[in-house]
Amino acid sequence: MRRPMVAGNWKMHGTRTSVAELIDGLGRLDLPSDVDVAVFPSCLHINQVIDGLKDQPISIGAQNSAVESMQGALTGEVAPSQLVDAGCSLVLVGHSERRQIMGEQDGMLIRKFAAAQACGLIPVLCIGETLEQREAGKTLEVVGRQLDSIIEELGVGVFAKAVIAYEPVWAIGTGLTASPQQAQDVHAAIRAQLAEKNSEVAQGVRLLYGGSVKAANAVELFGMPDIDGGLIGGASLNADEFGAICRAAGN
Ligand code: PEP
Repeated sequence: MRRPMVAGNWKMHGTRTSVAELIDGLGRLDLPSDVDVAVFPSCLHINQVIDGLKDQPISIGAQNSAVESMQGALTGEVAPSQLVDAGCSLVLVGHSERRQIMGEQDGMLIRKFAAAQACGLIPVLCIGETLEQREAGKTLEVVGRQLDSIIEELGVGVFAKAVIAYEPVWAIGTGLTASPQQAQDVHAAIRAQLAEKNSEVAQGVRLLYGGSVKAANAVELFGMPDIDGGLIGGASLNADEFGAICRAAGN
């Protein structure tokens, strides 16, 4: 039985003051004990969030990390080892905004994934298709290729200590959500692809759905057999809404 997970991606949002308010709200939540909850603040606010949430069962992750695991001469980057030192346990790899706007490609993402795991961080690999790709009937091909790039280089076993987030690009921050069945179909295909190589890994890995998840649609999405929770953007900036989404993932 996979333990559900709900993770909040705060993206490039927040000031010390607004982050303090969010911490305060999260600190008041009664979180379900059968769900793993995590938040991914901006790097600048990680220390503040770790301090502020030390009494809440919420893990902290980073939104990005370097291709090298250890600290060194790499201006502007943050090493996975530094994130571990700060108290992070997770890191996003390959969010579509980084793939599209920062030009991150598979080769770089393989290195980031491996560097994160080398330090004991759990990578949350984000994969998903654009609207154009979906309309061209290429969803499974695109998502399959993104997943395969990691499997081919690092082996399927790396997913025993990783999470996968299926995030259709057309649903991120747009208010459009994949229907529960659309999301389930892709999640099932991802799990089947992993199962071709290793059924134990496929059955154990958590597959999160991301793309305009809110409290109002979370129950239906999380009710699908291969959806093990969500990666939440906009709605995670509101503590009460985020709390309701976390509860929707519980039993
Ligand atoms: C995201 O950025 O990962 C995301 C899913 O955003 P939103 O929930 O705002 O669509």
